[in-house]
Parts: sequence; structure tokens; C-alpha cells
Amino acid sequence: MIELLQNPNVAISHQEPLLYSHWSEVPWDFERWPNFSPGEPRLACPRNGEFYFDTDALDRLQYARKLVGESFKINSGHRSPIHNALVGGKPLSQHLKLGFDISILNHKDPMRVYTACRESGFTGFGFYFTFLHVDTGRARRWFTKLGEKRWTSLLA
Ligand SMILES: [Zn+2]
Repeated sequence: MIELLQNPNVAISHQEPLLYSHWSEVPWDFERWPNFSPGEPRLACPRNGEFYFDTDALDRLQYARKLVGESFKINSGHRSPIHNALVGGKPLSQHLKLGFDISILNHKDPMRVYTACRESGFTGFGFYFTFLHVDTGRARRWFTKLGEKRWTSLLA
């Protein structure tokens, strides 16, 4: 197989993110993001199919997936404002653009997921009991109470 995936921190030109009213209209490049599809469960908004096509965030997700070498199950990607409100997301949640809640239940070593996401250039991290939130927004970290139990010993 031809190696098409580059480190996203180096030399990829990105287009401006664009909001699509439905994921089926997104010009997805399956060579660039072979392990994901906008129509997979919950990468687009599960309520109305809306998708925020952010090639930079997607390149980083794909690169992290490649580093880990195990499938990524996305619990939440883009959320339309109504969906974000209904699931109790923060009013300025990065999910209104494109953030990823990556399940850690299918990974023996959740730290590998975190490390790969850091290496891929993600800057926002939320540590939850069953998933890791990553995004390309303002650099920050937060823990839920249960997430703290699970992650702090790993991060120490
Ligand atoms: Zn999240």
C-alpha cells in the first residue's frame, strides 16, 4: 500500500473549514482519511447529519489513528447547536466545530491514544472515564471526577 499519510504538523496545506448541512455532501477523500467516513455513527451530528469539514482536525485524527494502529471509535464528533444543547454540551463546545470523543474501551493502553493525539498536534484534551476528548482549539486540559481516577496514575 502506498504511504500517503504525512505527519500533520508538517507541510500540509489546509482549506478553510466548511459547514455542510449533511455529511453526504462532504467531498471526503478516502485516501487521505482511510479509517474514517463522515457517515459513520456520530462523526457527523447524529441528529441532523450536519458536518463541520475541518481538514486540519481530520488529518490529525487520521495521523493519531495511524500511530496507534488500532481502530478509533468516535463517540462524538460534530454536533449541531440543538444536539449539543440536548446532550448537555458546553455552549462554546469545540464539538460545534469539530472535536472528537475517542472511546478508550477498545484500547488496552489508553495512554497510547493520548500520546498519539499529542504527537498529532491536538491541543485540547478532556479526560473522561470511558473516552478521551481531543480538539484543535485553545490549549487546555480538564478531567471529570471519574476521568481523573482513571487517567492521573497513567499521566503521572
Ligand atoms: Zn468532547
